[in-house]
Amino acid sequence: MRSEVWQRYGSIGGVGGGLRDRQVRDQWLADGVHEQFGVLANAWKETVRDAMADIAASMAVAKAEVRRTINRRTAEADERKQMYAALRADRWADDAFLARQMRKCWRRGKNRTHNQIIVRADKHHSIADARGRLWLAVPGLQRQQLVRIPLNTTVAPTGTLRLILRNGRVEVHYQIDAMTMRTSQRACGHGMLGVDKGYSEVLTDSDGNHHGAGLGQLLTFESDHRKDKNRRRDKLRSIAGSARRRGDHAKADRITRNNLGTAKRSLRRARWKAIVRTETFSAVHRVIDNAGTVVAEDLSKAFGSRKPLGKDINRRLAGWTKGITAEALKNVSERRGSALVHVNAAYTSQACHRCGSLGRRSGDRLHCAHCRVVWQADVNAAINILQRAGDPDIALYTPHQRVKQILQERADRPRVRLPTQDSSPAWPGGERIIRSAQP
Ligand SMILES: [Zn+2]
Repeated sequence: MRSEVWQRYGSIGGVGGGLRDRQVRDQWLADGVHEQFGVLANAWKETVRDAMADIAASMAVAKAEVRRTINRRTAEADERKQMYAALRADRWADDAFLARQMRKCWRRGKNRTHNQIIVRADKHHSIADARGRLWLAVPGLQRQQLVRIPLNTTVAPTGTLRLILRNGRVEVHYQIDAMTMRTSQRACGHGMLGVDKGYSEVLTDSDGNHHGAGLGQLLTFESDHRKDKNRRRDKLRSIAGSARRRGDHAKADRITRNNLGTAKRSLRRARWKAIVRTETFSAVHRVIDNAGTVVAEDLSKAFGSRKPLGKDINRRLAGWTKGITAEALKNVSERRGSALVHVNAAYTSQACHRCGSLGRRSGDRLHCAHCRVVWQADVNAAINILQRAGDPDIALYTPHQRVKQILQERADRPRVRLPTQDSSPAWPGGERIIRSAQP
């Protein structure tokens, strides 16, 4: 059904934008399109609504792209405004330029969702059995016949549900109000902390504390495991391939079926991801226990770079955990009421936080030839990040090269450096870290 919706309304060639899900439903009711699917009215209506929302989201992405093109094409405010308005009201088909751009940016959409249904809030309920186990009852294909699903939680899901079938299990997704969560009631700290994203731990803060120290081991272990598994799979794949060339199809099929499936693998990966998420979120909670303001690099920006990560498992996993850390910082800050400040992190891992000159990294140490001091690299980076929050010259989007230039100018003129020395009272933790960082 989703594919049908995308087929009809998911492209310029179809009806195009502007159609609401209610109009589609009315149209389908009139034409009898829905009858071919053999599902109850409520189920197909919710699916149409969900698929139309997916189409609208994909169209919004295209519109953002077209808005950039409009900016490049005209500098005239009135003309821009007119085009923006046409785009917003889905009247772009009338304008030759806009229609052309939309056609270019809104590549033919395709449904990629085949494993889920939406259940409206008033169509499901949960019941506990005699042993206290919770069951979710949802409508099946027959009228009045509910399908019961055992849940592995004691909290009943509420509101609109998204049921996803994955690897022979049912995942129940639903929205919750974050403010009702227990951790949302925990107050944040008072200080201001800079944090640096590490590899061996989730975060290091500018007071010299490491949080989520288990991350490095989790990543190394998983990466080794995947490399080993991939090697074995390659070997089996080549055995199956040569069996097939020999004409031994039974053997080739057996290997493909029994040894090269993905069900076990994706279950395992889902479990691993859950462990990393927990480690990350609790690390961020510990930072916010001590901070009313957290200063961090904008980690979500890292995904903007088009550099392909290729086959390097380490880098792929590290990239993924970076996204989780960004999500955790945003999510936990919002829930616990602390402020999250994003700063420009260029050279924060290479520059000495005291003088600004670029030091030499070796392992987790940073040598500053100018100050003749060795810092603990992650702590030095976290202090740099904290100082960026009050930096009068380096703003969030100051280009990389300019940052380097500013740092060099400061290092060359040590007497006019910023008042962010270790004697500054603004960061009382600074002095302590500097001492402990010396070997
Ligand atoms: Zn220095």
